[in-house]
Formats: sequence, structure tokens, C-alpha cells
Amino acid sequence: MQHLAKIPFPEVERLARSGKALVILPVGVVEEHGAHLPLGLDSFAAEAYAAAAAAHLEQKGYEVIVAPTINYGVAHQALDFAGTLTLQPETLKSLVVDIGRSLAKHGLDRLVILNGHRDLDHMRTLEVARSVLVDEKTAQVLCTGFASDPAVTAACYREGVKQFYRSPRPDREGHGGESETSVALHCFPELVKQELLGQLEPNFDYDVEAFRNETKDYWTLTGGRGYFGCPQAASAQTGKQLVSTRGRNIAQVILNAWSVL
Ligand SMILES: [Zn+2]
Repeated sequence: MQHLAKIPFPEVERLARSGKALVILPVGVVEEHGAHLPLGLDSFAAEAYAAAAAAHLEQKGYEVIVAPTINYGVAHQALDFAGTLTLQPETLKSLVVDIGRSLAKHGLDRLVILNGHRDLDHMRTLEVARSVLVDEKTAQVLCTGFASDPAVTAACYREGVKQFYRSPRPDREGHGGESETSVALHCFPELVKQELLGQLEPNFDYDVEAFRNETKDYWTLTGGRGYFGCPQAASAQTGKQLVSTRGRNIAQVILNAWSVL
């Protein structure tokens, strides 16, 4: 796996000529995830899943290039919390389309968008960007991670992970809860306010439909707490298993779509 921003141009030429190059573009956001987690969590998680997926793709002959992460996204749900930033959907669409066109100009025309941020507008926008690039025949593009197609999201993130959870209410886990806290404890523990974890009472009693359908904002839904589920149930070990399983899942989704190099 190579990071596009860390290699010189002749290496990019070589990768493009190989016919085996596949670019992963991680996409995250700057959004609150409770008092215990950093605002950039979705970006950092997308990068961890990209690295985990890359290993499997390379076993199948691909040369994986990870493009610099898009660290901003559409985040209307949590705008009442300090630090949450949002782009207009049009801005995000333009970013992805511009990056896709630039990559394709250099022969890198196999692009996987790996999105770590669940927000309906954000996911729809990535799908629109994908359609633009595909319709104009710029590149083959896949949306993975949190995608506007719920079947893709389930195949990437939910397949084979149930047994890792220790939360008493896995059906109530969500943003900032056991899963995201576990991934953070595994991948970037130095950014987790671990001394706060013991004080975070589970948040199971919220309007689940309003959370999933985004009909109420996060402040209203959590009483200003910003997390859903049980951060206390999280562990680094669970995070390790989640990253490993989801990385394999994401690679499988890609290989199912592009089985022939
Ligand atoms: Zn998140």
C-alpha cells in the first residue's frame, strides 16, 4: 500500500502502467462524537479500514494507493456541538469529482470511496459524485463503508461483527458508542479521554427512528451528550476485531464488484 502524497511522480507512472492500481479515497468529517472522542474520528477510522482492506486487495494482485483523506463532509446532525463543521453537499461533490478526474488523467481510473461518516445527505452526495464520474466514463468508482445503499453499508460494517459486542443493548448502539469508541481505543488511544469513560452512562433511551432517519438532531436526541449506546462497553480488543473484520469485508465488497483485474 502506498500513500499518494508520500511517493514521487515516477512511482505513480509505474503504478498506473501496471494496470493493477486501485485508489482508495478515505472520506470522513469533523463532527462531535461525545466528550470522550475526537472530532476527526470518522476520518481516522476510514483510514484504518483502508489499510486493513488494502492488505487483502494486494493479496489478490491489486496495487493499492491511498489518496489523502477528505477530512470534511456534510454534518448537519451535530452542528449544535462545538467544533462540528459542515460542507454544502455541492462542495463535497465537487471535491470528489475533481479528485476522481485528476486521478484518471494520470491513468488511475479505479477508485474506491471509503466513507467513515454516517449521514444521509453526506452519503447521497458521495453517490452523486460516483454517478458523475461513472456516467462521464472518467473512472470505475465504488462507494464503500457508509454508503447510501444500506446493503453496502451492512456488507462493509455489520457482516460478521455481532459477536464482538459486549453492550447490553447492541440494538441501541450508534454514533460515539461501543463500536466507534472501541475502534478509537485500538487505533488512536492517545486521542480518547479514557478518564471520562467511567462517567459516561449508557444512552439507550433515545428515539431510534429519529436517529436513523435524521429527523431530530444529535443535541436533541442525546440531551447534549453526543453519543448513542454504551461507550463503557468498548475495548481496544473489540476495536482490533472490528477493524480487521471490516477491512476484510470492505475488500470483499470491492472484489465482488471488480473480481477481474
Ligand atoms: Zn462517526
